[in-house]
Amino acid sequence: MKISESKKLFSRAQEVMPGGVNSPVRAFKSVQSEPLFITHAKGSRLFDADGNSFIDYIGSWGPMILGHADPRITSEIEKAVQKGTSFGTPTEGEIELAEMISDAVPSVEMVRLVNSGSEAAMGALRVARGFTGRDKIIKFEGCYHGSVDALLVKAGSGATTLGIPDSPGVPQSFTEHTLSAPFNDLDAVIELTENFPDEIAAIVLEPVAGNMGMIPPEHGFLQGLRELCDREGILLIFDEVMTGFRVDFSGAQALFQVMPDLSIFGKVIGGGLPVGAYGGRREIMLQVAPAGPVYQAGTLSGNPIAVSAGKTMLKILKEEDPYADLGRKTATLNEALSDAAKKKGIPLETCSMGGMFGFFFSEKKVRNYEDALKCNRDYFITFFREVLSRGIYLAPSPFESLFLSSSHSEADLDQTIEAFQHGLAAI
Ligand SMILES: *Cc1c(COP(=O)(O)O)cnc(C)c1O
Repeated sequence: MKISESKKLFSRAQEVMPGGVNSPVRAFKSVQSEPLFITHAKGSRLFDADGNSFIDYIGSWGPMILGHADPRITSEIEKAVQKGTSFGTPTEGEIELAEMISDAVPSVEMVRLVNSGSEAAMGALRVARGFTGRDKIIKFEGCYHGSVDALLVKAGSGATTLGIPDSPGVPQSFTEHTLSAPFNDLDAVIELTENFPDEIAAIVLEPVAGNMGMIPPEHGFLQGLRELCDREGILLIFDEVMTGFRVDFSGAQALFQVMPDLSIFGKVIGGGLPVGAYGGRREIMLQVAPAGPVYQAGTLSGNPIAVSAGKTMLKILKEEDPYADLGRKTATLNEALSDAAKKKGIPLETCSMGGMFGFFFSEKKVRNYEDALKCNRDYFITFFREVLSRGIYLAPSPFESLFLSSSHSEADLDQTIEAFQHGLAAI
């Protein structure tokens, strides 16, 4: 595989941007390699500066559930651009996107649009604290909620990959109200609530963990949290930035039938443009300014171009309901990978739900962050590099989920499965 152009671009990038990238995992550090510079993408494919093409399983880290450059979305963006790129005033499109989100997700009665998942997480925490008049929050080890100061405690994603779960630059005092528990461990959460009675504003989690690799909630875990929150007057916040409109049109909360008080969105709802949102029960959201006293604002929030992309995305997803088909495809990939690993005697654990999937090179079932960290990283690196050289672009870290789009064809799956077999053989 020719990579000379990407190499050149990466050395140039490192001169002017920390690590040569604008978001850490892009740098390929955890696969001890250098990133490829992408020039364009179409459908299931990415094309790089050296003319290589790849079947893409990152999908911009989640948003591109219809594949890249879907003409139905790009044409709406083009139309929106012609009308002006930002007004800083209310527009009808914002109402429509908010209506679409609240129609799709039953627990969401009101929505605030922002520009990223991180910003949405920040807003949701603030309103939860404002509403309850409590300061403390509980998060889960390995769950990632964006680069939010108070939530960079035992965070997953890039923070795991780089081994900096607690970042310098975050004052101790900013995280003194952040408590953390192992994912899937209801008893640990109950213990925290007993130790801090009437002090906990919210429990925040990814209902299906996706930023420490993919880990599903165990039976009764989400329901147990819901009951605990009801008993203790704590708000339950589902961070569905990754899972929202990805595992199901109505999110993981619909699949598991557990309703949170607040939900956080991003990724898919922006149709590939920068959008985030938080929303939930009316009485809580009415605390947000200007309806209420909890301040939160954004110059480009509800940007008309981003909103047009998001609206079109959700409209298509509602009409086409691709989730069963996506689920069949991700299960096919996982089954093929599992079978091949079994034949070779390589320990492997897999998980898939709708358009999201993941695997660990692990002897035992992965229930939480501690288990995830025990997976065989060397196996992953070898596997990753081998499949990349065969045109399959996976997330460059063992602690990320993988995403498939409705434009991935059967031929794409066949090519991927063949590359997976070579990847395992290389281990
Ligand atoms: C990606 C992600 C975020 C952060 O969203 P950004 O748009 O990158 O700020 C927050 N929470 C979860 C669960 C995510 O997957």
